[in-house]
Amino acid sequence: DGFGIRGSPLNMGGPLKALRDRGALSVGNPKGAHAISVDARAPDFDGGIVTRIDSVPLSIMVNKAGRRFADEGEDLWPRRYASWGHLIAAQPDQIAYSIFDSQVNDLFIPGLYPPYRAETLDGLADHAGLPLDALERTIRQFNASVPDDPPFDHGGLDGRSTTGLDIPKSNWALRIDRPPFYAYPLRCGITFTYLGVKVDAEARLQTGEGRVDNLFAAGEIMSGNVLTAGYLAGFGLTIGAVFGRIAGSGAGRHASSGA
Ligand SMILES: Cc1cc2nc3c(=O)[nH]c(=O)nc-3n(C[C@H](O)[C@H](O)[C@H](O)COP(=O)(O)OP(=O)(O)OC[C@H]3O[C@@H](n4cnc5c(N)ncnc54)[C@H](O)[C@@H]3O)c2cc1C
Repeated sequence: DGFGIRGSPLNMGGPLKALRDRGALSVGNPKGAHAISVDARAPDFDGGIVTRIDSVPLSIMVNKAGRRFADEGEDLWPRRYASWGHLIAAQPDQIAYSIFDSQVNDLFIPGLYPPYRAETLDGLADHAGLPLDALERTIRQFNASVPDDPPFDHGGLDGRSTTGLDIPKSNWALRIDRPPFYAYPLRCGITFTYLGVKVDAEARLQTGEGRVDNLFAAGEIMSGNVLTAGYLAGFGLTIGAVFGRIAGSGAGRHASSGA
């Protein structure tokens, strides 16, 4: 229920279903999806790019109980952002909060909706509906684990990692102590799913009886052939461009062969 669909509500997978019903082999995890952190205040469909929230690696992420649940600084954001939707969806009520302060507020692309803002943690907890005691405890423990060195550098992995926490923050750890304080409420936003039709290297559709010579697939409908583990920003359009060219060239050759 807590999931948002980042694209059109009209894109219901009709062509994928039709192909599978006619014997196309499937590929990709049926439960897998490119799923990111979007503003929880976004509409259920078509929130688009402006509701994506990129503050995660510069913040701490807490669930509705005010507790951290994953390493916000594990890797560069373009390599990690597509895993945060699933992490948030696994939290109580499928919601989480990105908490940060004035030091980092202008270091990421702002979302469509302004974050909650308060001069005190008390005020922030009130705005976000978070339990103050738990939030203060989490931030106190987090701040105590933040090192003085190396210097903060969000242009790369800076190695500025917390020490002594059950769940570390492996890079970009900064104390949250400079008001105003901010919070984005976040939920899981599905960009696209990984279930698709199986193709060969020439983008020809595969069935249980072999390949279909005059049917090609490119883009999301076959992205599961490529996206077997993880996602790097830009792969969606790259899969469409690369396999679109392969499929288009193959279809053209097939048509001109007269077969
Ligand atoms: C909000 C958002 C942000 C994104 N940001 C990025 C990004 O920054 N970088 C990146 O690489 N990728 C991004 N993507 C993913 C990228 O947009 C897609 O991977 C890409 O558009 C897929 O292209 P496609 O042609 O395979 O599918 P689509 O663009 O989905 O085209 C499929 C077409 O089929 C039509 N269709 C569906 N059902 C039927 C039917 N029954 N009959 C006839 N037509 C039908 C649809 O209307 C649609 O026009 C983003 C996606 C979303 C939703």
